[in-house]
Amino acid sequence: MKEFNVAVLPGDGIGPEIVKQAIKVMDAVAEKFNFKINYEYGLIGGAAIDETGNPFPEETKEIVLKSDAVLLGAVGGPKWDNLEFSIRPERALLGLRKLLNAFANLRPAKLYDELIDASSLKAEIVKGVDIMVVRELNSGIYFGIPKGIFIDGDERVGINTLRYYEHEVERIAKVAFEVARKRGKKVTSVDKANVLEATVLWREVVEKVHKNYQDVELNHMYVDNAAMQIIRWPKQFDVIVTTNMFGDILSDACAMLTGSLGMLPSASIGGRIGLYEPIHGSAPDIAGQNIANPIATINSAGMMFTYSFHMPEAEKAIDRAVRAVLAKGYRTKDIMSEGCKEVSTEEIGDLIAEEI
Ligand code: ATP
Ligand code: MG
Repeated sequence: MKEFNVAVLPGDGIGPEIVKQAIKVMDAVAEKFNFKINYEYGLIGGAAIDETGNPFPEETKEIVLKSDAVLLGAVGGPKWDNLEFSIRPERALLGLRKLLNAFANLRPAKLYDELIDASSLKAEIVKGVDIMVVRELNSGIYFGIPKGIFIDGDERVGINTLRYYEHEVERIAKVAFEVARKRGKKVTSVDKANVLEATVLWREVVEKVHKNYQDVELNHMYVDNAAMQIIRWPKQFDVIVTTNMFGDILSDACAMLTGSLGMLPSASIGGRIGLYEPIHGSAPDIAGQNIANPIATINSAGMMFTYSFHMPEAEKAIDRAVRAVLAKGYRTKDIMSEGCKEVSTEEIGDLIAEEI
């Protein structure tokens, strides 16, 4: 029997509650497809600070490095907000991504027909939206040197540097084209090549990589236009590939097209071990109340099956189960609408697992 090792890092706030539901669903999938998942739990974020003084302790690193994939809940909360920058819970995420060399962040923004009422946008514009944002995660302006606040003559100057090496663009472009091959066969590369030289290189390298993916359509868009087009007519997009900062911003915009933070998963891949987590934070305002929506985390586990375990049929089974439960009218509080049945975090987790 096939076996997979998953490091589970529940974290803070609603993290433990939603991760628990994802595990139920993963177990159901393992039973259905006849494989075994071994889970090893680690501390991260505020929970780790409380126990060890460190948001990303050595022990957790070891658990992660022994695994095939990492399932993360969320980190942070008001309790740790006043700590010094270097020991904040959020630092653990940067450490984790770096450790995993996860340079490609995949964020799907897909609107479930069943939730069309939850979107604040016109149904005609958002119905059927299914975008995959592929964001470069390990380089660009968030990492380029020099960075910092310096003294220049008699005043201070704040500096960040946008830089991309050819190999960094090449590898993210490959991920985007590979993903597009399995979807709508279209990639939009977003840059600012009319102003930023680093993205002139970006565009050239994406063109070069495209030569090996002639079955995938490629177009280029300036980031300002892309922001507008995402709001104007989002259905024109399939895969969007872009730099770290543009991806940070555009993926949030895409996410909100679907109107439901609690539904959207993410995968950070590229290294040997993939990282899977919901796009939302630890939601301290609703933690411990059994009302959080676990579907983003359940869908993140779904992505794990496709991208780490090469079992897209398992992700499809999860997707079908989620849709079936929504179609029957079950909703957590955040996506509740008239005529539906409100259920708890635990209940919706059980329903989805049973459906599988
Ligand atoms: P972070 O800084 O970690 O990104 P944040 O401050 O941006 O976090 P979230 O923790 O994502 O914010 O929460 C934003 C709002 O969305 C909160 O009101 C929270 O309760 C709600 N929310 C987030 N995730 C969920 C979820 N899974 N189910 C229900 N509500 C959620
Ligand atoms: Mg936030």
